[in-house]
Amino acid sequence: MAYVISDDCISCGACEAECPVSAISEGDGKYVINADECLDCGACAGVCPVGAPVQE
Ligand code: SF4
Ligand code: SF4
Repeated sequence: MAYVISDDCISCGACEAECPVSAISEGDGKYVINADECLDCGACAGVCPVGAPVQE
C-alpha cells in the first residue's frame, strides 16, 4: 500500500516537507510519491489543500 497523488494536485509543495521519509518530489505538472518509500502514514493527505494524496 502507498499513497498516490491525483491530478487534482496544484503543485503547492506543502506535502513535500511533511513526508517523514522524503518520498515526495515535484513531478511533471504535479507532485509524485515514490511508492517504494511511502510508509502510508497519511501526513501528506493531512496538509494537502485539495485532497490530492489518496490511498491506493
Ligand atoms: Fe510520505 Fe506519509 Fe505521504 Fe507516504 S503517506 S508519501 S510516507 S507523508
Ligand atoms: Fe499537490 Fe496537495 Fe502536495 Fe500541494 S499538498 S503539492 S496540492 S499533493
